[in-house]
Amino acid sequence: MGGEFAFIDRIRARAGASGALLGIGDDAALWHPGPDTDQVVTSDLLLEGMHFDLAWTPLPDLGRKALAVNLSDVAAMGAVARWAVLSLGLPGDPEPFWPLVEAFLDAADAAAVTLVGGDTCASRAGLVVSVTVIGEVPAGQAVTRAGARPGDGVWVTGTPGESAAGLALLKGRDAAISPEHRERLVRRHLDPTPRVAEGVRLRDVGVTAMIDVSDGLAGDLGHVLAASGVGACLEADALPLSPALRAYCAAVHTDESTDNAVDAAAFVLGGGEDYELVFAVPPEAEPRVEGLLASGAVEACRIGRFEAESGLRLRRAGQVRPIAPRGYEHFE
Ligand code: ADP
Ligand code: MG
Repeated sequence: MGGEFAFIDRIRARAGASGALLGIGDDAALWHPGPDTDQVVTSDLLLEGMHFDLAWTPLPDLGRKALAVNLSDVAAMGAVARWAVLSLGLPGDPEPFWPLVEAFLDAADAAAVTLVGGDTCASRAGLVVSVTVIGEVPAGQAVTRAGARPGDGVWVTGTPGESAAGLALLKGRDAAISPEHRERLVRRHLDPTPRVAEGVRLRDVGVTAMIDVSDGLAGDLGHVLAASGVGACLEADALPLSPALRAYCAAVHTDESTDNAVDAAAFVLGGGEDYELVFAVPPEAEPRVEGLLASGAVEACRIGRFEAESGLRLRRAGQVRPIAPRGYEHFE
């Protein structure tokens, strides 16, 4: 396996000095977290054929996304990512996969995350990318899923739903939209932006619960409801619908051969891989969140309220209906 060790040497050279006590090159990495620091650890596995298709996924996008999905989890804890571990199952000669590693390392540099280890193996099951990220948060300040209370606002960053529309486009469900809108939706799927700075800012202004949207807003909000022991009512009119998503849905609707139930709200609530943050804002923290919006430090909007009554509901045209905490369109 000369290829393996040459490839690891190349990774080590590119990763540079680690800032840890020991990085790549020994049997394990070693670092010393500060005395007033809690650590968070998260891991995500990306499997060819399951999570991505190399027919439409450029290797640099895959490398960036493998890190991004972990940065998103760390941000959702209100923590700062510090260290990464990258494990690769490579179907053949490692060298063609260098663009994946290089893009991963560029993204890590941009996030001030250091690659301190990993594993590199040949794979007979396609390309496998496993990333673990370790982050830090001041002791006692991590934001969990469990803190939402009745009366807190339900907020979400950015424009969820675009990624799912982008995936539909990549899978060939074409729509007559402008090249700009098409590019926007596809990039949101292939190259999502984790809300790294936002997570810490929201922690600092006192949000009471937070989660990142990987499986769809309604489903992930459902985890917050379960962990916090509350319910929520969302406002259909308050859902953030991006121009590109509106254009996509309008174009799909005019095509008689496609499902009429497709609409923008279904993408927002039931899409996935958005890597936006959903969070709970208690009334006393609302002015501070508004301050973050006004300064441009966070882009987010309030889409509903947590309630004592369990379950997830949607108010549309004055009518409140239960919605499933996943796959919103199945219950409409
Ligand atoms: P071991 O056999 O002790 O597990 P390896 O030969 O697998 O050691 O790895 C040698 C060093 O290279 C270790 O520090 C390991 O963490 C690092 N390493 C291996 N693969 C990668 C990778 N894909 N990315 C980053 N570091 C890696
Ligand atoms: Mg090893």
